[in-house]
Amino acid sequence: RPALRVRGVHKTYPGAAAPALDGVDLTLHPGETLAVLGPSGSGKSTLLRAIAGLEPLDRGTVEFGDPDERLAVVFQDPGLFPWLSVRANIALGGRYRRNRDRFDEAHVDELLGILGLAELARTPVQELSGGQAQRVSVGRALAVRPDVLLLDEPFSALDPATRQDLQQWLRGLVRELSLTVFLVTHDVEEALVLGDRIGFFGGPAGFTRQWVPARDGAT
Ligand code: ADP
Ligand code: ADP
Repeated sequence: RPALRVRGVHKTYPGAAAPALDGVDLTLHPGETLAVLGPSGSGKSTLLRAIAGLEPLDRGTVEFGDPDERLAVVFQDPGLFPWLSVRANIALGGRYRRNRDRFDEAHVDELLGILGLAELARTPVQELSGGQAQRVSVGRALAVRPDVLLLDEPFSALDPATRQDLQQWLRGLVRELSLTVFLVTHDVEEALVLGDRIGFFGGPAGFTRQWVPARDGAT
């Protein structure tokens, strides 16, 4: 049973000349990483927000494998509380009321180890490098034990060396935890390193955009 199925999703922003999403179909299977690759303005973030339920759609459906399925999103901007510690920022992800049943302090400690952040647990995040901060942001997402992790250009703001480090780091993490991941990126290298399958968005903003679903036979 797919973790996620998107069917015939259309979205045109008010006043826009061309649709941001023009009939997107995709299937995401449990434990796989689907990378959506496309240039800036091709509709990747809109699709991710549509999946997260943050974007009203003109047409189409987004269905999850089971009704209790949980999503967590990581954006390009880590959006942390600068004066709080690494541990406190990660724990915040699990403290929202909806997530309490899946949250416990021991899990946060376990995550700190898995994420390679145990040494930094008590450090205020304002003292971290950009790469470390983004690792904390991934940790905060994982604290809710999501079924599907949505990543929107997670490493695009980082310098190339740090970006490569974090891509390898995330790849290891995804395997270790058998995560189901939906990644959008304009970075070809990132899509190749992380994606089990790659879907393409073509066409710059203002032109007709074409979505080529990743081949999977099961759609
Ligand atoms: P990408 O993530 O691939 O860069 P986006 O989904 O952000 O693409 O944008 C797709 C198109 O929709 C672009 O033309 C962008 O300017 C437009 N767009 C995105 N968000 C909004 C919005 N909130 N209101 C109006 N237009 C938007
Ligand atoms: P991304 O490419 O990662 O989506 P953008 O810089 O395109 O980032 O968009 C950043 C924010 O601005 C998003 O919330 C998006 O919805 C909004 N946005 C993008 N394009 C437009 C637009 N043409 N009109 C209004 N809001 C927009």
